[in-house]
Amino acid sequence: MLNRRTFLQSSLFTSASIFIKKTVIGAASPKKRNKPLVISTWEPNVTANAEAWKILGKGGKAIDAVEAGVQIPEANPHDQSVGYGGLPDRDGKVTLDACIMDETGNCGGVVFLEYIVHPIKVARLVMDKTPHVLLAGEGALQFALENGFKKENLLTPESEKAWKDWLKTSKYDPMTIPKLLQEKDLKDGRGQQHNHDTIGMIALDEAGNLSGACTTSGMAYKMRGRVGDSPIIGAGLFVDNEVGAATSTGVGEEVIRICGSHTVVEYMRMGLSPDEACKKTVERIAKKRGDKANDLQVGFIAVNTNGDIGGYALQKGFTYAVQTTEGSKVYHSKSMF
Ligand code: ASP
Repeated sequence: MLNRRTFLQSSLFTSASIFIKKTVIGAASPKKRNKPLVISTWEPNVTANAEAWKILGKGGKAIDAVEAGVQIPEANPHDQSVGYGGLPDRDGKVTLDACIMDETGNCGGVVFLEYIVHPIKVARLVMDKTPHVLLAGEGALQFALENGFKKENLLTPESEKAWKDWLKTSKYDPMTIPKLLQEKDLKDGRGQQHNHDTIGMIALDEAGNLSGACTTSGMAYKMRGRVGDSPIIGAGLFVDNEVGAATSTGVGEEVIRICGSHTVVEYMRMGLSPDEACKKTVERIAKKRGDKANDLQVGFIAVNTNGDIGGYALQKGFTYAVQTTEGSKVYHSKSMF
């Protein structure tokens, strides 16, 4: 029988170590960097990585690559967790959260933004054009419209139908959603792919600079006004060019409670590999939540300045996609349960 230990040992792509190349020049030589590279939460985001690669592969900047890459799921009407076509809140409104951060610590984000297909582009403008980091709701929309964005209906017929089906059978209690999702999705081994597909993307460019972006429609059928971890710098995304970068997916409340992505980066600063740093951070959530952790999914991915990558999740079913000069790969993350 495949127990947890043998599962971890036998999984072909569960270790990021294949990307770690040892220098042969001598101990004093700097470690060769595995760059450029791009990594994203969830398997379907190989297409987002490919878009980012159009910039990274030509020697472009990580910040431009992540901004371009995450626009793929944002514009995809069939991706019901990000941008256009995202599942609405419990009142039937699609509200979006996104943030972006570059190698110098510049960052920008939007929360509770409605009617705009590409919240990541608005987040980038908040970073580049304002003295602020975060704009919310009506103010974020006003800023977007002033900068030429078009107001569009983001609720697709597919997502409207899913919401109406949910209204028939579900209580107005968003905190029961993680459990419902797990019962529904973990049974067939897909994890929470259909309701927790936030894209968090990190790129390391040819110049050795790290940047990240994170964008989502948030937890399906959330309370109106609810904001998750994804647009919060330090929670859903964090970049420190001297150490590494991390991003998250899953139940945002749990990630916010421990400043998740910042915690992953701080573990890497202490010398842990990206894999170990993600694992330690997930373990911290599990310890704090006790038995409740069984009903939650949270996953982190991380990259250090050498281009070593890693990921870890509370529950099985979390995947991440990586593109390097060696091609595109999907990893099935190790998990606690
Ligand atoms: N982290 C997101 C949130 O809590 C959800 C997700 O990853 O799908 O809004």
